[in-house]
Amino acid sequence: MASAAGLKEGKVVTRFAPSPTGFLHIGGARTALFNWLFARHYGGKALLRIEDTDRKRSTSEAIDAILDGLDWLGLDYDEPPVFQSERAGRHAEVAQQLLAAGHAYKCFATPEDLEAMRAEQRANKQPMRYDGRWRDRDPSEAPEGAPYAVRIKAPTDSETTIQDAVQGAVSVKNAEIDDYIILRADGTPTYMLAVVVDDHDMGVSHIIRGDDHLNNAFRQLPIIHAMNEIEGGWDTPVYAHVPLIHGNDGAKMSKRHGSLGAEAYRDDHGILPEALFNYLLRLGWGHGDREEITREEAIELFTLEGVGKSPSRFDLKKLQHLNGHYIREADNARLAGLIAERLGSNPDIALLTEAMPVLKTRARNLDELAEGAAFLFKQRPLEMTEKAAGLLDDDARERLRSIYARLETENDWTLEALEASLKSHAEELELGLGKLAQPLRAALTGTTTSPGIFDVLVLLGREESLARVDAQAAPAS
Ligand code: GLU
Repeated sequence: MASAAGLKEGKVVTRFAPSPTGFLHIGGARTALFNWLFARHYGGKALLRIEDTDRKRSTSEAIDAILDGLDWLGLDYDEPPVFQSERAGRHAEVAQQLLAAGHAYKCFATPEDLEAMRAEQRANKQPMRYDGRWRDRDPSEAPEGAPYAVRIKAPTDSETTIQDAVQGAVSVKNAEIDDYIILRADGTPTYMLAVVVDDHDMGVSHIIRGDDHLNNAFRQLPIIHAMNEIEGGWDTPVYAHVPLIHGNDGAKMSKRHGSLGAEAYRDDHGILPEALFNYLLRLGWGHGDREEITREEAIELFTLEGVGKSPSRFDLKKLQHLNGHYIREADNARLAGLIAERLGSNPDIALLTEAMPVLKTRARNLDELAEGAAFLFKQRPLEMTEKAAGLLDDDARERLRSIYARLETENDWTLEALEASLKSHAEELELGLGKLAQPLRAALTGTTTSPGIFDVLVLLGREESLARVDAQAAPAS
């Protein structure tokens, strides 16, 4: 374990190491966030490594989406990303060092040999793992020029204990860790070797990742220990294996639970990055019962002690609720810019910004915000929703005509004056204000839900309001 002193000296180096076979999903985003916060908290370095060794499944779209998602969440890195695929030569070099020092060996087992071995293990109900058949054999026993893989010589007796910063002490019997392949017969390194070599070369001090990698840590340690013996300086990193995120029914997170790429939360769900940031932060980490935590506070407060040991549950509703809160906090001009794209056809940003305090009071996401703003830019005659059209019967159209006549005399087009005017008009007609407001809303917005009716009048302005009412009112007699 790195000492507490080490932490204070700013020697913390973390890395986020996504495999670009898919987008930046919720679990990955949280891992990225925790690594980033931990590095920032201790004044260390946050690094990024793209684990693109699976050439068939890694795509450049996925790499772009991951970089874009991290950027959107505001997670920045202290060095350019390391691409694992570019380091195969270095990985092979370490495999050769291990081989030369006797910490690894050549295995000449053919695919058929291994298949037969597995079939036997299956039949005997034994765990399926490589049985070490070439561990102590002399390579000269292999046929001349036969292909071989390089396997790590893992310890066979006793057990290994990891002091995991989240899980506590976890022990595994060494007999359970087989001599896995580090270099394939075609000379390419395996993932297990690549991770260890890259973490060392990048100076990673703390490995914070999902607990689905806990077993890998036990398999990775023999390489670290062997290399430390060979050349020194291969310190064991601090491990922190964070419990996975589950869906709100407790089952493993999937699309069905709303597990999407970060860009889908942004584009399809209209989530603000600060909302996702805060939501992810508290998904598996807590600081008392603190709810909204700013970025700066998160950096100040984040330590691994706050990471819980049990899986957290993802709840899209909570995220949306939180998003509503952040929308209300957000700068109006920024929100106007964000929903302008959703509204299309270059809406008037100044008008949108002016309308924002009224629009944002209820919206839980940018789509709702855009929907609420749409009335501002509708063309006459307004298209009516079915409900709004249903409201506008002959009586209602008569009322609209009287409202028109009243509003036409109104020169003080302010919230207060309009409210006073329509209220007294309702009283004169001996009607509830709703009887006027409902058809008025339909005429002004084409819908039955909108911000407060006086706000709508003010935002549309005198001329446009009157024209919209006139278009729906009974013919003037
Ligand atoms: N590339 C692995 C993943 O995306 C992470 C490996 C690691 O963190 O050690 O699951």
